[in-house]
Amino acid sequence: MPDINIPEDTYDIIIVGGGPGGLTAGLYAARADMKVLLLEGNAQASQITMTDMIENYPGIPEISGFELNDTFKKQAISFGLDIRPEQVSRINREEQGNVEGWEIITDNDVYRTLSVIVSAGAAWSRLGVPGEQEFVGRGISYCATCDAPFYRDREVAVIGGGDTAVEEAIYLTKFASKVTIIHRRDRLRATAILQQRAFANEKITFAWDSTVEEILGEGGVTGVRIRNVKTPDRHEELPVDGVFIFVGLVPNTAFIKGIVNLNEDGYIITDGDMKTSAGGIFACGDCISKSLRQVVTACGDGATAAHSASLHVDELRGQAY
Ligand code: NAP
Repeated sequence: MPDINIPEDTYDIIIVGGGPGGLTAGLYAARADMKVLLLEGNAQASQITMTDMIENYPGIPEISGFELNDTFKKQAISFGLDIRPEQVSRINREEQGNVEGWEIITDNDVYRTLSVIVSAGAAWSRLGVPGEQEFVGRGISYCATCDAPFYRDREVAVIGGGDTAVEEAIYLTKFASKVTIIHRRDRLRATAILQQRAFANEKITFAWDSTVEEILGEGGVTGVRIRNVKTPDRHEELPVDGVFIFVGLVPNTAFIKGIVNLNEDGYIITDGDMKTSAGGIFACGDCISKSLRQVVTACGDGATAAHSASLHVDELRGQAY
């Protein structure tokens, strides 16, 4: 077997993404004594930091998303994790000395590493109707925690029927006088406990079987034009001052397209060890193909990804046991 020759500045593991999955991977990798760097991105905030309250992370009955992620971060840093606010634009395969590895290109630098953990998360989907683009920041929002206080004693609409839409609608009732959830079907996708809370909330009403055709306004939002899908000729204008759109997620995986296999919606396909189709690249959190996207599942995936990446690095360095 030839001598292993790896340049000194090559990292063992580079983690892309600073949400719960990435930070847990960072904690585990740092504790495994890996030479590890986490690139947390600077283009958009992690979804968790925009979540008002988390009540289903075991062991912590109630905590804000920002505080929980900040705690993850401080804990990982205390074990030596290096975190930099850089945006990754591309990952290329590149030999490191005489072993396989990867080159990571950011907006600021180029890094070399033996393995990569992608935990880049997902962004809110756009609805794609007339008026949406025009009124972003002037009545249209994708973050109730950020913008709800602007709607004190006003009427707002929430679009979507998943956990995010229902949870954020409930949060909005702290401020708004009335919240109408506009959903395209006659039943919610959200988890049962959130549904029960929404149905019991006097400030929340529902526009079932309804899609939004246009967001109306002049200078700012004044209403939405909705269509009932069961009686397509029936259009209705609902006057509101704000529209909160929560119609799902788009994974942040464009930078790794063509390097690892993605499913038809753009999520990274992994196995149970968080291995992707490319040797040395692992993935975790909301950007992977799976059925349950939660903080706790992202953390579990992150720990597994770090463990798998550490085994891979040990093997490349000839230290496998
Ligand atoms: P989601 O579960 O994908 O739900 C998206 C909702 O938007 C669905 O109700 C969907 O309708 C609707 N929708 C999609 N495209 C639409 C369109 N073009 N027009 C109108 N409606 C549209 O997304 P999410 O609620 O953001 O949740 C994402 C993930 O995070 C999920 O895995 C969720 O469980 C998780 N999450 C968990 C919590 C929690 O545990 N507390 C909180 C937030 C999010 P259909 O139902 O008809 O498909």
